[in-house]
Amino acid sequence: MTPHILIAGAGIAGLSAALSLHAAGFERITVVEAARSLRPVGAGLNLMPNAVRELDALGVLDRVEADAVRTTELRYYHRSGSLISRDRRGLDAGYRWPQLSVHRAHLQQVLADAVRDRLGSGAVVGGVRVTGVEARADGGPRVALAHRDGTTRGSASLTPDVLIGADGIRSAVRAALNPGEGEPPWNGMLVFRGVSRMGARHAGSFMFIAGDDRLKAVVYPMTRPTAADPDVLVNWALAVPADAVGATGAPVDWDRRVPVDRFAHLYAGWEFGGVDVERVLRAADEAYEYPMVDREPLARWSLGRTTLVGDAAHAMYPVGSNGATQSIVDGRALAHALARHADPAEALAAYEAERRPAMTELQCANRRLGPEVVIDLAHRRAPDGFADVDDVIPPHERAEIAARYAATGAFDPATVNQGSPYEVPVGVSY
Ligand SMILES: Cc1cc2nc3c(=O)[nH]c(=O)nc-3n(C[C@H](O)[C@H](O)[C@H](O)COP(=O)(O)OP(=O)(O)OC[C@H]3O[C@@H](n4cnc5c(N)ncnc54)[C@H](O)[C@@H]3O)c2cc1C
Repeated sequence: MTPHILIAGAGIAGLSAALSLHAAGFERITVVEAARSLRPVGAGLNLMPNAVRELDALGVLDRVEADAVRTTELRYYHRSGSLISRDRRGLDAGYRWPQLSVHRAHLQQVLADAVRDRLGSGAVVGGVRVTGVEARADGGPRVALAHRDGTTRGSASLTPDVLIGADGIRSAVRAALNPGEGEPPWNGMLVFRGVSRMGARHAGSFMFIAGDDRLKAVVYPMTRPTAADPDVLVNWALAVPADAVGATGAPVDWDRRVPVDRFAHLYAGWEFGGVDVERVLRAADEAYEYPMVDREPLARWSLGRTTLVGDAAHAMYPVGSNGATQSIVDGRALAHALARHADPAEALAAYEAERRPAMTELQCANRRLGPEVVIDLAHRRAPDGFADVDDVIPPHERAEIAARYAATGAFDPATVNQGSPYEVPVGVSY
């Protein structure tokens, strides 16, 4: 009999881990999710080709792509409007898989539907929160759960063979493995995220990241216009110093909905490639406000038969489109390791050895702004803008910044195009 694997959290990491485990031959998988139902919350995500490759291997890419946009071009702009760089992405950059802009809610729904189809309707249980983990005498985890069902509340415990903490940046599983870590550190910036519905001609057909040393904006369309609906959904995310909107501390309430009036005026006059940023922002009814936080890299992700994936393992600043991307890859790597090792503790150690060093590097690279550092360099060297970017950041320097970052995340075309290293041949069993 295959082991019972409990996954805490039905976000992108938890659901893709469940699908990956199933594809690797595991059958007894339960995902417990604190929210009572999967609500269509959040805004857009960008998935790099290395994650899209894994979604393809899992057989869900067509459904994801049914409501997504292939990102073919990424532009960086100086605050003045000067173009810093314009790079081809996905298939246009020579990858065998596209880069995708997609609504988080759509991606989560496709993954959840596939989990229920393949693992059974009871595989994802809502309203159940992991509240603690302790080690049993045999090395397995004892997991404390709190559940809410309508007006009923209760608690229980489970003793799965393996526990996977996919419960996000404020993970209870991580807290159990690393007592005393506390809240994620805040860097004094706020992130506002939202989705605007607007005519395609105002949205641009490319993704761009623009700003200066203070304010930044990331904007991209994530649906296509159709004959029946000429509007598209445009995703945007802003980095704003807290004092620019009169805030004196980190928001206590994460995921708070706020009116766009709170910050839209800061972007008056921002226009890039024909896209008026303030107009985009004001086309949304409201935005989500988050503190800009990440997590310190951990010295270990696993203890015995418990490990971490996604933001629980390596929450990083939202730079370089890596949050959801790497979460999907984690699940595939973990399933591959579990299929290859008879001893689950050895498998988790192998998974961690494969993933943790690279994710630590990526967390640190994102603290240095990753590939987006070109915006700060351009602003520092030419605060008022420039006529020719080559005079400000020479081509070899720009190429080196992009290549170094892609190599850190193992998403350079040569590596990705080799195909998934995480396929488990049919018939290999635990
Ligand atoms: C509501 C929400 C909206 C987001 N919106 C965006 C966005 O617009 N753009 C973007 O780039 N990124 C967004 N993210 C982050 C992005 O989805 C993640 O960085 C990335 O996908 C990694 O996902 P994850 O599954 O590791 O973590 P998460 O996406 O945080 O998922 C964790 C899941 O675990 C559940 N959970 C938490 N604690 C427990 C517990 N103790 N027991 C059981 N379940 C628990 C949560 O309810 C959640 O469903 C959002 C995350 C969330 C939760």
